[in-house]
Amino acid sequence: MTTLDRSQGCVLGLALGDAFGAPYEGGVLERFVWGMIGKTSDRKRRFTDDTQMMLDMMGVIVEHGELDLDAIATQFAQSYRWSRGYGPAAAKLLKKIKRGAHWNEVNRAVYKEGSLGNGGAMRAAPLALLFDDQSVLFDAAKQQARITHAHPLGQDGAGLIACATHMALKDMEPIAIVDELQVLDVQQEYHEALHHVREWLTASTLRTAQQIRISPGVGMTALESCMSALYMALSHFERDFESMMSLSWSCGGDADTISAMAGAIWGARHGHKKLPSSWLKELEGRAVLEALSGDLLNVTV
Ligand SMILES: [Mg+2]
Repeated sequence: MTTLDRSQGCVLGLALGDAFGAPYEGGVLERFVWGMIGKTSDRKRRFTDDTQMMLDMMGVIVEHGELDLDAIATQFAQSYRWSRGYGPAAAKLLKKIKRGAHWNEVNRAVYKEGSLGNGGAMRAAPLALLFDDQSVLFDAAKQQARITHAHPLGQDGAGLIACATHMALKDMEPIAIVDELQVLDVQQEYHEALHHVREWLTASTLRTAQQIRISPGVGMTALESCMSALYMALSHFERDFESMMSLSWSCGGDADTISAMAGAIWGARHGHKKLPSSWLKELEGRAVLEALSGDLLNVTV
């Protein structure tokens, strides 16, 4: 059974990665803007769309007792604020939903094949707290990703991050986690990337930021960012949260989302008490996140 410590570790690990990774995301312009708006009026580190959408989705599940996709889509649209750093495609889609369109009609409105970005995966990790059966979890994670990410690569990334978190909660070892992820029915590109992740985990040294930027990559596609986050989390199971984050930030790219996904998996494995307490003091919305972590233990879906 999942404990409150692990549930909080997963939820707060995600939010810490997001809020503390945000200043390192993107290019000069993005970093400048976040420098201006990245703190709340009481000087807390603001979280971004990653944490907001996770709160939206998990809040609806707590309230409805099920994965109600229409209600989740509505909540996503209601919570949308440009200042949370949503990507332009997500912003466009959420505004359409807010104006009354159904998510299933607009999730291919920006990209014909649907988005293959990491927005479905960035919010998926805490779903692992709700399901015992891993194949049911895998399907649920992909289903919720469909709201904003119609492309199979975007959905598979969500399934992989949720299942990796599930295995972290069960204290599985890194190589065993990768081997079990390989059994899942995902696009071939992921099988190839997981093969590399496994090789890197067995190497005697960590990959450098420069190497990670080249492969798996740190762009906003689900394929690059989910595989980077997975590598960072699994390679740091025997290391501390701060050094994992420092590696993630030095990679740049989509630093808030990669840090959020890695933070959630690491937090699921180690629990809330191992997260840096001085960072938690600086985090926006800590009380809300802690309360949600408790609520999630009482949900049956
Ligand atoms: Mg973000």
